Amino acid sequence: METFLSKKLTIKGMIQGVGFRPFIFNLAHQFLLKGNVSNTSSGVLISVEGRAKDIESFCNLIPDKAPPLAVITDISIQNIPFKKFKDFSILVSSTDNDKTGMILPDISVCDKCVSEMFDPLNRRFQYPFINCTKCGPRYSIIEDLPYDRDKTSMKQFEMCEACLLEYTDCKNRRFHAQPNACEECGPELLLCDRDENIIKTKNPAGKAAALLKQGYIIAIKGIGGFHLSVDAENDHAVKLLRERKMRPEKPFAVMSFSIKDIKEYALIEKKEEKSLCSLERPVVLLQKKIPFLLSKAIAPGNSFIGVMLPYTPLHYFLLQEKFSALVMTSGNISNEPITAKNKEAFEKLHNIADYFLITNREIVHPLDDSVVKHISGAPLFIRRSRGYVPAPLFLKKNIPQILACGGDLKSVICLTKNNNAFLSRYIGNIENPEVFTLYHETIKHMQTLFNIEPEIIAHDFHPGYLSTGFAKKYAKENPGILRIPVWHHHAHVAACMAENMIEDPVIGFAMDGTGYGVDGQIWGGEVLIAETDRFQRGAHLKYIPMPGAAAAVKEPWRMGISYLYHAFGEDIYDLDIPFLQKIEEKKIKTLIQMISAKINSPLTSGMGRLFDAVAAITGIRNNITYTGQAAMELEAVSDGHNKQLYKYGWDNNEIISIDMGPLIRGVVSDIKKRVDTSVIGGKFHNTLIRMLADLCVTMKKRTGLNRVVLSGGVFLNKILSTGLTNALKDNGFEVFTHHLTPAGDGGLALGQAVVAAALARQK
Ligand code: ZN
Ligand code: ZN
Ligand code: FE
Repeated sequence: METFLSKKLTIKGMIQGVGFRPFIFNLAHQFLLKGNVSNTSSGVLISVEGRAKDIESFCNLIPDKAPPLAVITDISIQNIPFKKFKDFSILVSSTDNDKTGMILPDISVCDKCVSEMFDPLNRRFQYPFINCTKCGPRYSIIEDLPYDRDKTSMKQFEMCEACLLEYTDCKNRRFHAQPNACEECGPELLLCDRDENIIKTKNPAGKAAALLKQGYIIAIKGIGGFHLSVDAENDHAVKLLRERKMRPEKPFAVMSFSIKDIKEYALIEKKEEKSLCSLERPVVLLQKKIPFLLSKAIAPGNSFIGVMLPYTPLHYFLLQEKFSALVMTSGNISNEPITAKNKEAFEKLHNIADYFLITNREIVHPLDDSVVKHISGAPLFIRRSRGYVPAPLFLKKNIPQILACGGDLKSVICLTKNNNAFLSRYIGNIENPEVFTLYHETIKHMQTLFNIEPEIIAHDFHPGYLSTGFAKKYAKENPGILRIPVWHHHAHVAACMAENMIEDPVIGFAMDGTGYGVDGQIWGGEVLIAETDRFQRGAHLKYIPMPGAAAAVKEPWRMGISYLYHAFGEDIYDLDIPFLQKIEEKKIKTLIQMISAKINSPLTSGMGRLFDAVAAITGIRNNITYTGQAAMELEAVSDGHNKQLYKYGWDNNEIISIDMGPLIRGVVSDIKKRVDTSVIGGKFHNTLIRMLADLCVTMKKRTGLNRVVLSGGVFLNKILSTGLTNALKDNGFEVFTHHLTPAGDGGLALGQAVVAAALARQK
């Protein structure tokens, strides 16, 4: 006697928009099962009836054979009454209230689609919006869940007969591909001049490529927003773009057709190649090849260049016209959010771009390109956005629904639900009013999309942060919500702990530029003994005045003077080094008066400020035009293999304070001896590595802890990160770094969320 069963399966995870239902459909047919499959906003529901052993095989094969993009987090199976299904079908989506069905990030165009686009016999020959179930836009076009065409910005395009046939044919590779389209029925490409006049051409992309070749600047609409593009070999065009964008030195990202093309101007390690080719297609920071074949104005003063491979069919189409690389920088005005709407692009980029390559497909969720840098063989996020957002990070355990407000700079917010942490797109510096508006919008739309009503709102302790003000206002408007402030550097360490699923106490290095400290001073060179719910300060760089406060961040020479004054006192006036000779004595005197009289000179222990000071003193630069510039240029000139040391040491206090005076005196002595900057920089890095490793040994003696967590933007410095990780491992430490969220303030919100959850648990 054969047993027949009727089962209901509920499957959760990232399974919408990856061809999951077609996969189930085919699998059910394979085992002659009857029933149906549907997308609901809480996941995929399957009803099946059939022979017991067939149902068993069916259930077992789901996790093994699921489409490559699917991430299954849970399968639950129940017995249900027989409904006597006649066949197996895919049901039209139903909506319910529990929106835990996850949304996929945007996926780069697949090889099959690219080859179809270049195939003259294919009906989508040269169609720049070609996609299939395995590739194409996802999050950027989703208006609401569940993921169906009528809830995306593709809803205005009614599929033609041929497309509909593919869409409804379970054997077709475009079966239920929501953005499915062709020239006949789908989005179209238009080339316009800056006054919105349409340029008449049968081949807008081809024409755009020709214009790029001639040196014009073109605004190109992509997946997450507009790029501003120029030929990367054309020095004049790159400089013109800098001038018009008012972005004098901050590096531009470039895009090349293939790995082979990239190898002409950059060095690629195996793992970097893997990142470049990944479905997410981030910008990867690669070591420049010398001599550098592209325009030197792309990343001046930097030893790295940000590179990506094409991720839309249009990119492939443009690049096949034999460019070594195209500059592809975010289409925005300095510090403003990326432009994503056509109208807005014409308004805002009018004075930058000569031409606009636009489409009539709306971008619902704008996204900047993600940026990673490989350190110690692993990718580290500088920015986590397109390709990754809104995929959740999985936490070790379920936590309440929390809104974590992040920091004010490089802002990213985080919403939590169960064991999922949803980090937002890169929002930017919310001090800019337009970015602050975007900040509000991002929070609102993410709450709606994931159906999250926070019980807790977490934010930075900084009383002057706009995000703190936002949290206070939010708590007032939502009575009953628990508002929990979190210390900046605790959040950094906690974020790295959460990523690595660590709950036990650690030695946490939190090294950055600026963060509000427990004593009201500006912290940033911190060693914390931390758990998720508490921390103690173990050690820090000795406080140094920041004459001019915020001005000292933009003008590293001020930190140079401050550190020299700290190291030499009044003898600073007798120092005969080029750095001081180039600054008016009056300016130096004023600054020292400010320091002595404690006027507008807050104290800082920031590691970023130490880098600024050394960069200034060694003559690298006195002023910056983008965040972290002085530190990056110092790293770029430094010989990372140098094994010499400057003097360092510390007191034996309960909280160790590390005096960098001896190091500064050593640097000055080398400058006087005309030692090369690459050597001084190398010695500086090596000293920090030895010093922090030794400090860690001291911390271990005091606490017995053996796990070390490295967090904060300073760890994007490859020489320091690699050297310190190795030195710590040599000393027997277990070292944990960021790999899922940025080490800088872009990861702060995750830390705030887990700390707040831990504190709320105690209450
Ligand atoms: Zn495809
Ligand atoms: Zn069509
Ligand atoms: Fe920070």
